[in-house]
Amino acid sequence: MAARAYAKCKTVLSRSRLPGLDYTFNPYVGCGHGCLYCYVPDLFRGKFARWPAKVEAKDGVLEKLRSEIRKSKPGVVGISTSTDPYQPLEADLGIVREALEIFKGAGFPVSIQTKSPLALRDLDVLRGMEAEVGFTIASLRGEFRDMFEPGAPDPASRLRAIGQLSRAGIKTWIFYGPIIHGFNDSDDDINGIVEAAATSGSRLLYDRINLKPLVSLRLRSVMPGSYFESIATFDYRSVYRKIQARCRELGVSSSPAF
Ligand code: SF4
Repeated sequence: MAARAYAKCKTVLSRSRLPGLDYTFNPYVGCGHGCLYCYVPDLFRGKFARWPAKVEAKDGVLEKLRSEIRKSKPGVVGISTSTDPYQPLEADLGIVREALEIFKGAGFPVSIQTKSPLALRDLDVLRGMEAEVGFTIASLRGEFRDMFEPGAPDPASRLRAIGQLSRAGIKTWIFYGPIIHGFNDSDDDINGIVEAAATSGSRLLYDRINLKPLVSLRLRSVMPGSYFESIATFDYRSVYRKIQARCRELGVSSSPAF
């Protein structure tokens, strides 16, 4: 078997300025889900020559975590913020599972965001610790996944997973985003996702597409220029109002993600 490459890193538990998070923990570099709208390559300009990038685990990530956590005050850890923690490589390596056990033992609450039902594998660890799991579901339609999230599990499997986690007593939320005008902002899209949040007892967060330069380049490469211009110039506040109204009707707690 070929030797696996590991990405070098100095620290693995980083202080966070994201709302609701004290720390972030990102065990992988790159993401096998390869979403077209991902802005991670924009955040780390020059690091990823192509997207999707080759995925690597960080070198000695669990040893570093054990050492850093001993010197850190307990706080909420976002897992993870620049990769999907339950991307395909995690099924082989199980780093997130071990990290959860470390956080649990040290009394650090966790907030997980994923697109993968692989999160269910760790239900036994998540039980009995302070944890919430959010699933990104930008659309319930498989065609949207095929076009924008080619490496990610299908939305139906995400829905089933969020229902199972919620029924098991884990706090759950759905991230409806990125909203891309003309692709996942119809009344049917909105109703379907708000109803999914209501059925699974999840909070709903939502956000429009963030058209950073590399995201724009990738989108322009797969659609006519007129589509891109309409996405870029659309006033997303009308969609937000519809989401909020439907959430009020169904008693779903909701807010913009940022
Ligand atoms: S799952 Fe998240 S981190 Fe991974 S490619 Fe998609 S948007 Fe980027």
